Amino acid sequence: MKFSIAVIAGDGIGPEVIAPALEILDAIGDKYGHIFNYVELEAGGLAIDHSGEPLPKETLETAKQCDALLLGAVGGPKWDTLPGHLRPERALLGLRAGLGVFANLRPAALLAQLKSACPVKDEVLIASNSEGKASFDLLIVRELTGGLYFGKRGRIDEPSNGHSPGAAFDTETYSWAEIERVLRAGYEAAAVRRKKLCVVDKANVLESSRFWREVAAVVSKDYRDIETSYLYVDNAAMQLIRAPGQFDVIVTSNLFGDILSDEASVLTGSIGMLASASLGAPVQGGIRPGMYEPIHGSAPDIAGKDIANPLATILSAAMMLRYSFGLEKEAAAIETAVNNVLDQGLRTGDIASRSATSSEKIVGTKAMGEAVLKAIL
Ligand code: NAD
Repeated sequence: MKFSIAVIAGDGIGPEVIAPALEILDAIGDKYGHIFNYVELEAGGLAIDHSGEPLPKETLETAKQCDALLLGAVGGPKWDTLPGHLRPERALLGLRAGLGVFANLRPAALLAQLKSACPVKDEVLIASNSEGKASFDLLIVRELTGGLYFGKRGRIDEPSNGHSPGAAFDTETYSWAEIERVLRAGYEAAAVRRKKLCVVDKANVLESSRFWREVAAVVSKDYRDIETSYLYVDNAAMQLIRAPGQFDVIVTSNLFGDILSDEASVLTGSIGMLASASLGAPVQGGIRPGMYEPIHGSAPDIAGKDIANPLATILSAAMMLRYSFGLEKEAAAIETAVNNVLDQGLRTGDIASRSATSSEKIVGTKAMGEAVLKAIL
């Protein structure tokens, strides 16, 4: 099959981590008989330098016409003093909204090879793992285009303690349709995992959370083979540390998902390992729109040094094959190759154990990409 992929390498380490991901996609294409055409686009700092705006119209329009978008990272100190609406990170919000990607999938799994990087004790991990292993494998599905981050906000002029404006507010509003579509994205993901879905909310206090539960009660009837549970967000934050193995898929709002997914990322060891997918509505019999990116930023402190970990971007490309193109065995081939390379003891600096007795070999960005490529061929 033939696919067009919009590629925004971006700033800082973005181009360094995107390059191996594209080589790996090419290798997958050769091996399984697909053609991936890349359409290179500018957004973020580079776009500001070239056209004065973080998300040129042409970038968004072209990205919309492609089958999916793969992004490295944007931003950096050079653009930090620009006003908010001209900052490179604005491009991300514009792309998400413009592409209509509302479900942010962030897997967080503890790989056996990186266990020493997890701050939670083995016995704690084992206690919540159904197979008695010191590991976990969960997926957070965060609603991405609604809720508190997009609700009505403002300042109230009436003075408070002699200060005016004397107050400020943000509002959390969710429509039935917004909740239903992200829940369905969660159930579809759970259907091909361990068939458990936990809705995380604050239904003991918030009306919008009680509404989430009402919608979930109805939607869950379409997925009777999947076990649905509910947890308050404060408890969920504790359970992620106390017993991460109990979770399969967590579905939650924009605000709660933002916080919980960062918490979960710490459990896996390094930000350099974590991939993400942001999905739009499924297209009947067609390609699902999606934006795929590592969860890390442009890491200006290590840019240009060939030390960035490219695995999060490579694993994001695997998610693209799975979720947008429906190429499950091709996605699994990339994940297995990454696993094999870690089994061989290859590590970028961020995931090295630093133990004197370790047999690991520390490699750079390019060498890590080449090793994954070799494991695929
Ligand atoms: P960051 O994720 O770029 O870096 C945080 C730390 O993690 C740094 O020490 C960095 O060296 C390290 N790190 C990140 N990715 C790594 C990798 N692949 N391998 C090894 N180490 C890695 O976050 P930050 O420093 O807060 O932000 C830097 C810039 O990136 C800012 O301009 C920020 O706005 C932007 N940013 C962009 C995105 C995005 O494009 N999606 C996301 C977050 C931050």
